[in-house]
Amino acid sequence: MTMESAYEELAPPAPAVAAMKEGGSKKTKKQRWEGGGEKKYRLVSYHELPDYMKENEFILNYYRSEWPILNAVLSLFSWHNETINIWTHLLGFMVFFGLTFLNLGQYFPQVADLIGHLSWPISKVGENVSSNIGEVLSSAAMFVQTNPAPLASAGMAVVSQTTRWPFFVFLAGAMFCLLSSSACHLLSCHSHRLNVFLIRLDYAGIAVMIVVSFFPPIYYIFQCDPHWQVVYLSAITAAGVGTVYALMSPRLSAARYRAHRALLFVAMGLSGIIPAVHAIAVNWHEPRRNVTLAYEGSMALSYLIGTAFYMTRVPERWRPGMFDLCGQSHQIFHALVIAGALAHYGAAVVFMQARDDIGCPAK
Ligand SMILES: [Zn+2]
Repeated sequence: MTMESAYEELAPPAPAVAAMKEGGSKKTKKQRWEGGGEKKYRLVSYHELPDYMKENEFILNYYRSEWPILNAVLSLFSWHNETINIWTHLLGFMVFFGLTFLNLGQYFPQVADLIGHLSWPISKVGENVSSNIGEVLSSAAMFVQTNPAPLASAGMAVVSQTTRWPFFVFLAGAMFCLLSSSACHLLSCHSHRLNVFLIRLDYAGIAVMIVVSFFPPIYYIFQCDPHWQVVYLSAITAAGVGTVYALMSPRLSAARYRAHRALLFVAMGLSGIIPAVHAIAVNWHEPRRNVTLAYEGSMALSYLIGTAFYMTRVPERWRPGMFDLCGQSHQIFHALVIAGALAHYGAAVVFMQARDDIGCPAK
């Protein structure tokens, strides 16, 4: 039996649908799977959607429309045309949550202990940390420290750990972006009001992700030249705030402005070329240059290819209806966003470790 016919069989008769909309009795409001027990609302076609949900005319079926919030939440575990969109970014969020936890474990022994108690396989981290209270305090001090790391002596290996907050700002922003995207795909089928709110939250999440991605590279690369930190980080933060402000206008949220929205984000991301060229010029002889370039090149490529899928709506525009459940452009876009974010995470670790190793020259 095809998925479509399965759903058709589950569809309630027309009077039941009318009763659903009018808030009819409990018995008519709900419908049952053939096996009984589980209650479910019907999936509808593109043409049955209210106008505000008509976002992609090449996805023809399996839409949830105006579902109660509980049903929308439970649809996390059923098949419809947003299932993969929800799960790709939810899994991405879990990955970044795990990375945050593991990294916190390196600097805060209490977190490492907690992870140990949860039987997390991080024996290595556990070996490297101590529950000594003095170390706890110095770790905490290091975390909030905003000044450059202590000076490095030439030829010395690890001098001191530099401050970690720009790295955690990136991790927190990535988690915010991925979680708000998941929530948007899961719940925006509930009502027009929630749809508008969640779509704006999703855009804000993307802008936040772009802004916070600037923090580790800019902070660590220009750590010994702090006025460049201020210039670049305040410029991208202002651009992010401006972009979010522009996207809050209902006009720009409309489906037909898809390309304009994407181009705003692309412009924000590509503005990173300016500090990147600056950074390459001043660190030309740094041995880790090629590693970080490879990571950041992969990030840029992932984001740009992902945006191209988002804008062109390939492949579903070639075969409308064929990719309703799996393989649609938005799912590819989501997967590439995670790939790009992970590549950037790899680069951020290298930038941070490089600064740990070389510190700042004496002035
Ligand atoms: Zn999305």
